[in-house]
Amino acid sequence: MKLYVRQSGQHGKGAFASGPIQKGEAIIVFSGPVLHRSEIDFGDYHLQIGETLYLGPSGVADDYINHSCHPNAGFRGGLTLFALRDIAVHEEITWDYSTAIDEEDFAGFPCACGAPDCRGMVRSFRHLPEDLRLRLRPLLLSYLQARYFPD
Ligand SMILES: [Zn+2]
Repeated sequence: MKLYVRQSGQHGKGAFASGPIQKGEAIIVFSGPVLHRSEIDFGDYHLQIGETLYLGPSGVADDYINHSCHPNAGFRGGLTLFALRDIAVHEEITWDYSTAIDEEDFAGFPCACGAPDCRGMVRSFRHLPEDLRLRLRPLLLSYLQARYFPD
């Protein structure tokens, strides 16, 4: 495990690098019980992985990885999170939640990532402007790749 969990300056707990991680390296595979939308406790940790499918809490570091509008990690179709650049020891790991969330009724939440290009709100992929959708395309979960970029 290349991660440890501690309080984050950004939001609650976060996941941090316990050693240097190289660009392109696999950081963690997201896991947890596969649940239907009707089984989700929306107050608890969950990750959307399909139109109506979610991963519930795994109890390990993947539950605590925070969002950033300028993240240092991302998915490439599957549920493995990869480093998008070199990550230093003790640096917080982040990924862009809009590469997984696509609920029509997701109200969004204010973003505290602090990136210079912060979007201000974390939103469903479907509610993002077209240019941003194209930029996030390589980092989308596979169900979103299939829905929005079927070829
Ligand atoms: Zn942000």
